[in-house]
Amino acid sequence: MATIHAPLFIGGEELEAGREGTATTYDPATGKEFATYAVGGIEDVDQAVAAARDAFDSGPWRRLKPFERGRILHRIGEGLLARREEIARNLVLDSGKPLRDAYWEVDCSARFFEFYAGACDKLQGTSVPLGPGVMDWTIREPIGVSAQIVPWNYPLQVAVRGVAPALATGCTVVIKPASETPLALRELAQICREVGLPKGVLNIVAGSGSVVGDRLARHPGVDQVTFTGSVQVGRRVSEAAAVNAVPANMELGGKSPQLLFADADLDTSLPIVHSGMYLHAGQVCNAGTRLLVERSRHDEVVERLHRMNTAMTLGRGLDDPDMGPVVSAGQKRTVEEYMAIARSEGQLLEGAELPGDSSLSDGYFVRPSLVVAAGATARVTQEEIFGPVLSVVPFDTAEEGITIANDSEFGLVAGVHTTNISTAMLAAQELAAGQVWINSFGVGLDVEFPFSGYKRSGFGREKGLEALDGYQQVKNVAVAF
Ligand code: NAP
Ligand code: MG
Repeated sequence: MATIHAPLFIGGEELEAGREGTATTYDPATGKEFATYAVGGIEDVDQAVAAARDAFDSGPWRRLKPFERGRILHRIGEGLLARREEIARNLVLDSGKPLRDAYWEVDCSARFFEFYAGACDKLQGTSVPLGPGVMDWTIREPIGVSAQIVPWNYPLQVAVRGVAPALATGCTVVIKPASETPLALRELAQICREVGLPKGVLNIVAGSGSVVGDRLARHPGVDQVTFTGSVQVGRRVSEAAAVNAVPANMELGGKSPQLLFADADLDTSLPIVHSGMYLHAGQVCNAGTRLLVERSRHDEVVERLHRMNTAMTLGRGLDDPDMGPVVSAGQKRTVEEYMAIARSEGQLLEGAELPGDSSLSDGYFVRPSLVVAAGATARVTQEEIFGPVLSVVPFDTAEEGITIANDSEFGLVAGVHTTNISTAMLAAQELAAGQVWINSFGVGLDVEFPFSGYKRSGFGREKGLEALDGYQQVKNVAVAF
C-alpha cells in the first residue's frame, strides 16, 4: 500500500490533489505501486504561473540583495544533503537506478545550489567606452518567469540544473516533473519552504506532458522555457514557446560516440567506456552508445566488454547492483524492440542474465548488450535507444573514426581514448559535440562547465556560468552629460 505522496506545490502551498486528482507511481524493480502523487490540470498550471508571475513582478525575490539570494540557495543545497538518504531512496524507488547513482544525483543537485549561490553577487555588466560626454553601461536583469519541463532519468538533478541558475538571477520558476518520476521534487519543495524561499518563487505541477507540459510551454505568463527530453517533444515545446516569442533552452537526446584508438591502455579505458555506456541502464542523455574502435583492437575490445557485461549484477536499485531495471514497462518494450532490430542488422551479444529473484519477476529488467557488425548507418547505431545497448563499429584511420563519429543527427558529447596527444587534439577540434572528454567520460559532479548539444541535441547552455545567460536579459543605459 502506498504511503508516500507527492503533492503539487503552488504559491508556497502543498496541494494534496490536482485538478486531475491523484495517480500512482510504480517501482520499476517490482512493477508494484509504491507511492501516489497529485496530478495537475490546466487550471493548476494557470494558478502556478500566476503565483510565479506575482512573485516575480511584486515579490521580494529579485529585489533581495544578491548575496541574500545566494544564502537562501546555499541553504537549499544544505537541505538536500541533510536529507540525502531519504531523497536517494525515493529516487531509486521511482526511477529504478542503483543507489550509488541516486546518491550522486543528490550530491550533484546540492552542488548546483552551492555553485549558483556563489554566482548571485557576481552577475556583473560591462562599461562601454563612448568618449567624453557619455557614460554607458550594461545591467544584467532576470528574464522573468521560467517554465521548466524535465525528464525522468535524472529527475532531481536535471530539474535543479535549470532551477538553481534561474533562481540565482532572480527569476521565478514553474516545473513540470516527468510522469514516470513524480516524486523526485517532493523534498525539494519542503526544503524550499523550510529555508524561507519566498512563496511563488518555485512551483511544481506534475501531470501529463500533453496537458500540463503543453499548457506551461505556451502560457502567455511565461517569459522563458527550459526543456530537457526527447527531440520529438522538444520540437513541440519549441513551437509552443514560439507562440509567445519567448526564448527556449533545449536539452535534447544523443547518440554519443566514444572513439577508442589502438594505442589506448585498455585496462584504463574499458572501465570508462563501459560505465559511460551502462550507467543507469543506458538511460542517460549523454551515454556513450556508439563505440568506434580502431580495427586492430576491435575483436579484443568486443570480447572484453562482453565479458564485463556477463559479469554484471542486475537487481533492485536499493541493493546497489551494477545495473537496475529500466524505468517503465514501455521503456522495456522499446529496448526489446531495438534488440530485435539489432539481431536483424548485426549480431547481438547479451550479457548478464535477468535477475532470478521471483520478487523481481515483474520488474522492468533488460540485459546489458553489445551489437557488432551492424555498421555505422544501421538503425541501432543511429537512433537513440535509451537502454543498455552499445553499438560497436570499427574504423581504420583517425579521420575515418571522426567522420563516423560525426555521422549522426545528434551532437551532445564525445569520448576519446588515446595516449597520443596529436590524435586527442585532432579529435577535440573536429568532433561536432558540445563536450569532448579525453580519456574520461563524465568527470566529477559535472556542475562547473557548460553542457549542451550541437545539432539536434539542442541549443542554449546548461551548467557552468554560461547557464546564467539563459535566465538574464541585458539592459544598456546611456547617459549624456
Ligand atoms: P520526453 O518524452 O521528451 O519527455 C520529457 C518531458 O516532456 C516529460 O516531463 C514529459 O511529460 C513532457 N512532455 C511530453 N509531451 C509534452 C508536450 N506535448 N508538451 C510539453 N511537455 C511534454 O523524454 P523522456 O522520455 O522523459 O526522457 C528521455 C529523453 O530525454 C531522451 O531523449 C534523453 O536523451 C533526453 N534527455 C536529455 C538530457 C540533456 O540534458 N540533453 C538529459 C536527460 C534526458 P510526461 O512524462 O508526462 O510525458
Ligand atoms: Mg516511477
